[in-house]
Amino acid sequence: MTSPVHGSAGSHAAGTRTDDATATSSPRTGAPVLEVEDLRVEFRSRGPVVNAVNGVSYAIAPGETMAILGESGCGKSVSAQAIMGILDVPPAHITGAIRFEGRDMLQMGAEDQRKIRGPGVSMIFQDALSALNPVYSVGDQIGEMFRAHRGTSKKEAKDRAVELMDRVRIPAARQRVDDYPHQFSGGMRQRVMIAMALALDPKVLIADEPTTALDVTVQAQVMDLLKDLQRDTGMGLILITHDLGVVNEVADRVAVMYAGKVVETGTIDDVFTRPAHPYTRGLMSSIPVLDGKGQRLNPIVGAPPSLARIPPGCSFHPRCPMARRGDGGRPDCTSDVPPLREVAAGRRAACHYSEELLHG
Ligand code: SF4
Repeated sequence: MTSPVHGSAGSHAAGTRTDDATATSSPRTGAPVLEVEDLRVEFRSRGPVVNAVNGVSYAIAPGETMAILGESGCGKSVSAQAIMGILDVPPAHITGAIRFEGRDMLQMGAEDQRKIRGPGVSMIFQDALSALNPVYSVGDQIGEMFRAHRGTSKKEAKDRAVELMDRVRIPAARQRVDDYPHQFSGGMRQRVMIAMALALDPKVLIADEPTTALDVTVQAQVMDLLKDLQRDTGMGLILITHDLGVVNEVADRVAVMYAGKVVETGTIDDVFTRPAHPYTRGLMSSIPVLDGKGQRLNPIVGAPPSLARIPPGCSFHPRCPMARRGDGGRPDCTSDVPPLREVAAGRRAACHYSEELLHG
């Protein structure tokens, strides 16, 4: 049986480079457990090259929650899939570095990568029903993690599966361990996925839109569960989402992505109260607030670009209300690529005119 939590290792090749690969450091003390540096993912098949991830860098410390925020198709999920080794290579071409406890996974062989994925870095997906195998019981699927990685006997693996189901608060775990995925609600299936992801005590958990398919009440329960589990285990949590409310409630830091790049990073408080990039500001202005009577929403005009045809200069310029043609020696948003740079203490943004947003 193949586990949906783990992926196969991939091979890698060179891609084009730009200058926005500045690493984002973690504010927590101690060495980061996972560092992504200048990660690039291209898809090369017939037709134009798709630049899905264009030089993304971030680091996560034990116990920290970092949100990766952006619209669909901005590359946030692809970057996570590259970390997990679940992209088919080819057509994917992956370059950069993905360091787990200082060791670059992209320079390892497949077997060494497999030893890290699961015990080191694990992932849960948004659609638990399609991620789970319908012909195996949930107990078999959770237990497979122990059998595959630890050589545990079938009986012991089942006992461990029951323990994990208890831990993720699935009621009557002992009675339900032999049930199949379709016999569980959406929220309970997501708990099964979380149990599988936690089976080997990972140091980093990547949660890709873990609550998108769930209703609002169940979303809150699943996020509470993830935070409780993180508090118990001290794992780092990378939360991939387009939901600003979830980010605001659970994350310590955020990396905002647009067209395959990180365009802003900082603490939640800083980024949410004083965005340093027009795209982030647009995201903030497009969500309603509870007591905002008569509030005027200002959605971002236009649509994100195709990753096969990313605009020159600043990729956000066709949608940006602050975009400028260069004059008097100032940068031209339509041709000059803005690097991701420090714009205030602990803040980075990829905009030529961030200071005007922060101080204007
Ligand atoms: Fe807008 Fe120019 Fe800043 Fe890009 S660099 S976000 S186009 S102001």
